[in-house]
Amino acid sequence: MKHYYGKNCVVELNKSDKSIAAVVQEKITLHEGEQRDEAFIIGDLGDIIKKYERWNAALPRVRPFYAVKCNDDHAVLKLLVDMGLSFDCASKVRRDREGTSLGVDPERIVYANPCKQTSFIKYAAKKHVSMMTFDNEDELHKIKAFYPDAQLILRILPQSNFKVQCELGNKFGCNPKKARYLLEAAKDLGLNVMGISFHVGSGCEEAEAFAVAVQQARDAFDAALQLGFDMTMLDIGGGFPGQSSAPISFEEIALVLNEALDRYFPDTNVDIIAEPGRYFVASAFTLGVNIIAKRIVARDQHGDNDEPLDYPTANDEPVMMYYVNDGVYGSFNCLLYDHATVQVSVPDDSDGDVTYTSSIWGPTCDGLDCILENTSLPELRVGNWLYFKDMGAYTMSAASTFNGMPPPRRFYNCSLETWHTVYPELSHKQRYIDSIPHMKAGRHLEETPDILATSPTDAFLFFGTS
Ligand code: PLP
Repeated sequence: MKHYYGKNCVVELNKSDKSIAAVVQEKITLHEGEQRDEAFIIGDLGDIIKKYERWNAALPRVRPFYAVKCNDDHAVLKLLVDMGLSFDCASKVRRDREGTSLGVDPERIVYANPCKQTSFIKYAAKKHVSMMTFDNEDELHKIKAFYPDAQLILRILPQSNFKVQCELGNKFGCNPKKARYLLEAAKDLGLNVMGISFHVGSGCEEAEAFAVAVQQARDAFDAALQLGFDMTMLDIGGGFPGQSSAPISFEEIALVLNEALDRYFPDTNVDIIAEPGRYFVASAFTLGVNIIAKRIVARDQHGDNDEPLDYPTANDEPVMMYYVNDGVYGSFNCLLYDHATVQVSVPDDSDGDVTYTSSIWGPTCDGLDCILENTSLPELRVGNWLYFKDMGAYTMSAASTFNGMPPPRRFYNCSLETWHTVYPELSHKQRYIDSIPHMKAGRHLEETPDILATSPTDAFLFFGTS
C-alpha cells in the first residue's frame, strides 16, 4: 500500500514492521530489477513517530522545536508538522524545492541563530516569527533597528566541560557572567527579553551537562526577572542522542533533566522548549550504496602508489579497496562536519566466513573521500551493495553534488499500525490513490493527477535550514 505525501514523495505502508535488512533487500531487488545502480536512502517514518512518543513519555514538560537543519527532508518535515511539532530554524530559505511547502504558524518557530543576517531579521518581522535568540550586544542593535517587537531569548554558554560529539560553545552563547550586562543592554534599548536558552553541544554524552546548564540558566533567568522582564520561556536546546549505539540514551538524559527542571524551574507557567535535531531523525534513515569499483592491493600497500608486489604471495593477505557511489561530499559529509562514525553492513553476508581487511571510498576524484579506512568484510564484487544504518542526522541536509555525483534516491516506509497513530484513517483521496494501478506499480508522482496533491498542511514553511 502506498500513501501520497506531497510532491515527489510516496510512503510505503507495510502491514507489519519490517527489519532494516529486509527493507534494504527489497530496494536492492527493485534496483536490480530496474537495472539501476544508484545509491538509495530509506526513511522509516515510523521510527520518527515512535521517537515522538518516547519524547512525550520521557520529557512531558518539554515542547520540542525540531532543528530543521539536521534533516530538512520534505517527508520528515511534513510528518513533524502533522504531528504538531514546532521548529527551530536559523535562516530564511523558502521551501519551494518540491513546489509545495508546509504551513507552520509563526508561533511554532524559534529563530535560534544568535548571529543573524539583517535581511533575515527583516523577513522574520514580515512573517511575524518573533521568537529569536541573541548572545551579543551588536545583535541587539540589529534587532532594535529591524524588529523591535521581537521576543528575545538570551543564549548562554553553560560553563562546564562535558563530553559531546560536536562542540558549539566555541561559536555561540554568552558567558553566564556576562548575562546581566546583555540583559541591561536589552533593557536600555527597550527590547523584550522573554527567555533564556542554551545548547550543551550536539550529541551530548553526559547527562549531567543538562543539569549544570539548567542551573546556570536559572541564574540568568532570575537576573532578567530582577530587571523587570516578563520571563516565560526556558529553551534547553538540542544535544539529545538519536541512535541506540550512542554512548548515552535519551531516557538517561531525560531522567537527569527532569530532576533539574523540577528543582530549578518548578513553576509550570514557564514554557520549556527544546531544539532537538538528531534525536528525531538519526536512526530513521538507512543508506544503501553500490560498489562501483574494486581494487585489490597487498597489505601495507596504499593504493597502487607503492612498488608492485607479486600478489598474492603466501605471506601477503590481500586488502580490498571498494569504491561506492556516495561519499564524504555527499551523505557521508557527517564524517567531517558532524564528527560521526559509521558502521557498514553487508545485505547478505551468509558467505562471509572469510573476511578481509577492507577500505571503503566515495565516488569523487578526491583522495579525502574515504568512508572507512579499515574494516573487515567478506570479499565483495563490483555491483554488490552495502548499507549504513543511522544515516538521518546531518547527512542529506549538508550533502553536495561535488564532482557531479547525484544524491541517493529517496524512499519512505512506515508500518501501517504506526502510521495510523498519526493519520487515523485512510481518506477518500488516499483510497483513490491505492486504486490507481501505476501508483501501485511505484511510478513517479509527476504522473499523478492534481486531485491528489493537497493536504491541509500543504501551505508553506518559510524558514528552512539552520
Ligand atoms: N539548536 C541549535 C541552535 C543548534 O545549533 C543545533 C545543532 O547544531 C541544534 C539545535 C540541534 O542539535 P542536535 O542535533 O544535537 O539536537
